[in-house]
Amino acid sequence: MKLNDELFERSKKVAPGGVHSPVRSFKGMNMSPIFFKGAKGTELEAVDGTRYTDFCMSFGPLILGHRDPDVSREVEEMIQTGWTFGACEPYSLALAEWITSRVPHVQKLRFVSSGTEAVMSAMRVARAGTGREKVLKFEGCYHGHVDSLLVKAGSGLAGESASSSAGISAKTASDTLVASLDDEAGLEKIFKERGHEIAVVAIEPLPANYGLLIQRKEFLQKVADLAKKYGALLLFDEVISGFRVGLGGMAEILQITPDLVCYGKILGGGFPVGCYGGRAELMDLVAPLGKVYQAGTLSANPVGMRAGLATLQKMEKLDGWKELERRGAAFEQKLSKELAGTPFQVSRYGSLFWLHNPTSSPIRDITQIAPSHGEHFAPFFRACLDRGIYLAPNAYEVGFLSLAHTDELLAHCAIKMGEAARATSRT
Ligand SMILES: *Cc1c(COP(=O)(O)O)cnc(C)c1O
Repeated sequence: MKLNDELFERSKKVAPGGVHSPVRSFKGMNMSPIFFKGAKGTELEAVDGTRYTDFCMSFGPLILGHRDPDVSREVEEMIQTGWTFGACEPYSLALAEWITSRVPHVQKLRFVSSGTEAVMSAMRVARAGTGREKVLKFEGCYHGHVDSLLVKAGSGLAGESASSSAGISAKTASDTLVASLDDEAGLEKIFKERGHEIAVVAIEPLPANYGLLIQRKEFLQKVADLAKKYGALLLFDEVISGFRVGLGGMAEILQITPDLVCYGKILGGGFPVGCYGGRAELMDLVAPLGKVYQAGTLSANPVGMRAGLATLQKMEKLDGWKELERRGAAFEQKLSKELAGTPFQVSRYGSLFWLHNPTSSPIRDITQIAPSHGEHFAPFFRACLDRGIYLAPNAYEVGFLSLAHTDELLAHCAIKMGEAARATSRT
């Protein structure tokens, strides 16, 4: 048996589905997942030695590429010094000061170990800060796997939700209301009926976990305005968009100020780091100052803190966001040409891209995604692998560019992806 298949067989005996996060199983891709043993820059190396150009980048954290030398230096130095203290240290202070001095809506913050934890904790703060219990979320937005947010729109009244995972109590699911993206009228209706119960409106201002659903600014402004009018807080979940679309995230681009914001992914430079932050008087509700309990054994882990700070400093120094926009635009243009006449079209925002069914207008909510998209994607994904390109192994995950992806490499990959799309549409 080939090494890869042997590893997968063994994994299935010890972990559910052989994986530690579901998308890694390549479910729906009609093949075993690839096991990787190493990475550098844009390149992933499989256990059998095959190399791939990576467009998944660990689902977003690696905005400088794998093992960036400047990040690597910080990490190695920290490991030589100590890797967790469970006590105060200057490394998280440096990262916290870096963020709060540059992102005006983050007056205070708290580091945690994942995006899920960040959102879960921010909601707790929002409930404490408003004395209300309901959370409003949007269909097609992902906020990690916290119970109350693993919900989808229910079939009953406006805003009513149903859990989207087994093991979540109906009571917990009912704490959450669900609205549609890109639908001002529906949102107004929910606010009219339930607005005074809503503690917080949670949204990905750039929804990028169910395809890339780029929202109109007017819609996001409406979300902010209605939250304000009804006394609900506004939570921007920028776990994926934060430090990817720009230093101040979507909040800065949209000129909309959220009360609370969550980060993760890029913030840890590839290590497990999340953070929630916002207005000082809200964050001061958190223990030990306030009555909102939240803690973590490995919170603000110094290795992650230094990897994150090194990543952000390098992005700032190189004006990396501007550069990624430039490279992304050129890539999009080239890829669009290559995909003409295939079952795919590309949407892009900065360094995030997504291939989907061709549409005449931008896809802004999940109902516009063709049900056949998943079927088209699986053979395309495998055809890309055959050409040395690794995309996220799921039709609804976005692609990520990093500063390690050069113009030349992107131009080459656009041609290969075009070939793959044509090869799969012929079959
Ligand atoms: C990835 C993501 C999360 C969850 O973060 P984890 O670190 O995987 O827990 C939450 N919200 C958004 C928008 C994300 O993209």
